Amino acid sequence: MKAVILPGYKKGYKVEELEEPKIGKDEVLVKVNKAALCYRDLLQIEGFYPKSKYPLILGHEMVGIIEKVGEDVREFKEGDRVTSMLFVPDWSCEYCKGGEEVYCKNRLIYAQELDGFFAEKAKLKANSLVRVPDGVSDDGAVIVPCVAAMVYRGLRKAGLKTGEVVLVTGASGGVGIHAIQVAKALGAKVIGVTSNENKAKIVSKFADYTIVGNKFSDEAKKIGDISIVIENTGTFTLEESLKCVRTGGKIIQIGNLDPSVTFNLRLGYLILKDISLMGHIGANKKDIEFTLNLVKEGKIRPVIGGEVSLEEFDKALELIKDKNRYGKILIKN
Ligand SMILES: [Zn+2]
Ligand SMILES: [Zn+2]
Repeated sequence: MKAVILPGYKKGYKVEELEEPKIGKDEVLVKVNKAALCYRDLLQIEGFYPKSKYPLILGHEMVGIIEKVGEDVREFKEGDRVTSMLFVPDWSCEYCKGGEEVYCKNRLIYAQELDGFFAEKAKLKANSLVRVPDGVSDDGAVIVPCVAAMVYRGLRKAGLKTGEVVLVTGASGGVGIHAIQVAKALGAKVIGVTSNENKAKIVSKFADYTIVGNKFSDEAKKIGDISIVIENTGTFTLEESLKCVRTGGKIIQIGNLDPSVTFNLRLGYLILKDISLMGHIGANKKDIEFTLNLVKEGKIRPVIGGEVSLEEFDKALELIKDKNRYGKILIKN
């Protein structure tokens, strides 16, 4: 089978022919229908996760059909369509027991400690799987675990109430365009901020208001009291996000993941406006299940900016770096 592998730490990537993985008792073999590219994959290629196992199959977002089940697997059977959490929780530590397995002390992360999903077939632990309901397309499912459900949990953490105003930066991107839809599905009024007129066309199909450009705070404040900012771009827009969020508002910081990126934060501003700046990553299983249902109900529609085959992985990387890109980039089998 074909797979995108990282041969070693900072040794680039290649598309290779590999043996089909052999599954253990608690594992399943999944024929991957679609996988999705994420900024974390770029960081992984660049070597931001030095403790990863190598060689490593890249990719952590996928939907597919179970082909084989290990002898101890009870909850799933051949033919089931599934997606997965980004990691395998132990389901036994205090965080897992408290319903926040995203903080699991013993979690194993796909495409870091375990092989990922940019392959024709993938080996997964059954206890990280989430069943995809009928009525949810493959494109609709693949955007949920790392994107839509992650945003949903962020808005849940931030305590979003119906009717509140949410501003989304980087609004045309893979996270942004779905973040708009999640916030709207939860009853928010949404302002999308994007960098150019081309991208504004797609943003305005989903957001209630669209603002173009990096200086958006004055215009945004005229629209209403902004309770929550979903901050996808980081240093480019965070100053304006701090300016536009209402007193007592919250900023959910999702981008930029690059650990070398820094920002001069004016603490007095944060304190006097009583702003909560929340780092945020990841979704729990129940967030993924809830969000898959929002997709099923048609409240979230997948926005796909490009789709390539495994052999064309180079092209997927070009697409994700393209400044005019919108939506998610998929890899199909
Ligand atoms: Zn991802
Ligand atoms: Zn745990």
